Amino acid sequence: MPPTRVGEPSLVDHLLRRRDRLTTAPQPRCSIQSIPPYVPGRPPTPREGLRSYKLSSNENPYPPLPGVLAASAEAAAGMNRYPDLGSSVLHDALAARLEVPTEHLAVATGSVALIYQLLQAFCEPGDEVIHAWRSFEAYPIAASVAAATSVRVPLTVDGRHDLDAMLTAITPRTRVILVCTPNNPTGPAVTQAELDAFLAVVPSRVLVVLDEAYAEFVRMADPVDGVTTYRRHENVVVTRTFSKAYGLAGLRVGYAVGPAPITAALRAVSLPFGVTAIAQAAAVASLSAQPALAERVETLVAERVRVLDGLRRAGLDVPDAQGNFVWLGFGDDASDFAVACERAGIVVRPFAGDGVRASIGEPEANDRLVEIATEWTTTRTRAS
Ligand SMILES: *Cc1c(COP(=O)(O)O)cnc(C)c1O
Repeated sequence: MPPTRVGEPSLVDHLLRRRDRLTTAPQPRCSIQSIPPYVPGRPPTPREGLRSYKLSSNENPYPPLPGVLAASAEAAAGMNRYPDLGSSVLHDALAARLEVPTEHLAVATGSVALIYQLLQAFCEPGDEVIHAWRSFEAYPIAASVAAATSVRVPLTVDGRHDLDAMLTAITPRTRVILVCTPNNPTGPAVTQAELDAFLAVVPSRVLVVLDEAYAEFVRMADPVDGVTTYRRHENVVVTRTFSKAYGLAGLRVGYAVGPAPITAALRAVSLPFGVTAIAQAAAVASLSAQPALAERVETLVAERVRVLDGLRRAGLDVPDAQGNFVWLGFGDDASDFAVACERAGIVVRPFAGDGVRASIGEPEANDRLVEIATEWTTTRTRAS
């Protein structure tokens, strides 16, 4: 631009004269304006004489694993420095645990971030992302953020992925398929045989994301082994998290395992320095606390079995639960049931008009959930 001469109207003067100067605010992209808000699990309202429990976010009720607080505190002492950009110690620890090359790993601020990054890296505007519905509520949001279209394939009546219907939904615009196993919020997981049959049909140009946020809690015949699966397919990536079984939800750290070109794309779009030194240290320390982790996970799984039995004994039709949560398909009563729980000091996660998800928490909280549900169904049955 040539310099403005004296007496000539400047660009600033020109802009000042534009009539729309004060009438139009900056507008985000259309796809951003339609994003539904992410509804977080609510914290309990304190009540006098009643201990409250939060069963609304699938968090781990346990404090950090042994050694984790100390490692975090030590890392916190260096907070004047940026964290290691490449999270190299964490990559090495994960590579050793999973027996994969470090180039096949990517870490981020929770596996939600990895899912956002995958859609951003692989979708052009208008491309289609197939996922089950109801499933993890971050999926349609992540698709919108990437300006992609979310294609929701209804679950079967028992809360499972309808993999055949998901195959049928594939079009030339399909770029990514998200498989949530176990499925949040309904609970069932897909089997390896089902997954293998599915992957044999999915075109190799379509990226399949196995969201295994709850992998550690799965206890079923023929469970999915995401790491073995990605080794056999160049279009499969697995996402996992330290938020659930490892109990680090507040520190935000998750990882992806997949072929090098996919993890390289994840790194390319990642926010630099997202995973803090504290989170990296906590994750590494958690990985080396396997016996304590295994014991806690077993206890939570045993509690899940107990809760499921209790709910079914009350006559409730509860789908299989392979995560650290159960699903109560109360339909139109979902919100009312959540209010009843709240009155009894339990915060659950209602999905209005559909159902209620309740996390497996402290034994006392689990007992109370079963009591409320039993009372609820008995009153309803008597009333009808
Ligand atoms: C909780 C959860 C995640 C991961 O959450 P982060 O805390 O971001 O790691 C991913 N997928 C599903 C289905 C979840 O329920």
